[in-house]
Order: sequence, then C-alpha cells, then structure tokens
Amino acid sequence: MKVDKDAVVSFHYRLSDETGTEVEDSREREPMAILFGRGSIIAGLEQAMAGHVAGDRFDVVVPPGQAYGERREEAIQRVPKKYFRDADHLQPGMTTVLNTKDGRQQMVTVTKVGSSVIDVDTNHPMAGKTLHFDIEITDVRAASEEELAHGHVHGPGGHAH
Ligand SMILES: [Zn+2]
Repeated sequence: MKVDKDAVVSFHYRLSDETGTEVEDSREREPMAILFGRGSIIAGLEQAMAGHVAGDRFDVVVPPGQAYGERREEAIQRVPKKYFRDADHLQPGMTTVLNTKDGRQQMVTVTKVGSSVIDVDTNHPMAGKTLHFDIEITDVRAASEEELAHGHVHGPGGHAH
C-alpha cells in the first residue's frame, strides 16, 4: 500500500538543521504514526512522503516556507513579567509559553531578562531554518472508521484514549 490521503503511515525520522546538527531522532522511541494528508506534519514533509511504501528510506530537504516559516525580525517583543507563569525561572535561551491578549498560547524564546520585563523572540524555534530529514517508512495501512472519524491514529505511535 502506498502513502496516500487517509492512510495510516508509521515512520522514523532524523531531523538535522542546515549545519548538520541533529535536532531530533525518533529511533530513541517507537515510530511516529500519522493519519496522512491531514496536515499533522509540516507540508514539505507530507508532500515528499506521498507515494512511498513501507521500507522506503529517503532524505528530504524542506525550506522554511514549507516548514515553520521565515524568521521575522520584528518578532522580538518586550513583555511585562506578569504575563509569564514562570517568570522567576526564565533565562535567555529558554523557551516558554506566553498567553497572548487574544487568549491564545504562543511558544516563545527568551532573549533577555530585565527586572520587570522580559524580551522574547516570538518566532517559532525552527523558523528560518531549512530542515533536513532522513525518513524511513516502517508501515502503511488503511485507517479504521474510528480513526477517520477522530482524525488521528489509534494504537502504537498514535492516541491511546
Ligand atoms: Zn481517537
């Protein structure tokens, strides 16, 4: 069975940035399992996996536009400490979650800690980076009715309700 919309695809991946530094390796745990074609992984990776079968191993290079977007320099913001749940523990380089004015939660990277304000970079930590993936498809199967209804995979690598 080929990787196609609504197939359940299990795969291992090794992610490196453009300098070759390894960011993540899924082989330290069980393969990731996704309901394919529903946007649960970045677009560039989904496009590259389409049509492959179990056992295929290949490299994929995903530019920022198809991954986490370009870095925006105006995304550095100065925010009063009261907006952070964990302000007393933050140091430059750490990531934390910020509650935005419109009630969303946003992942940010701390760039500077002052006495009453904290400067944060609101770019996604992987924004502006070209991502290098080493992908190995371990299994491709049809999704169950229940998985299609829920919009995610059940069992190993997926949801365990
Ligand atoms: Zn479910």
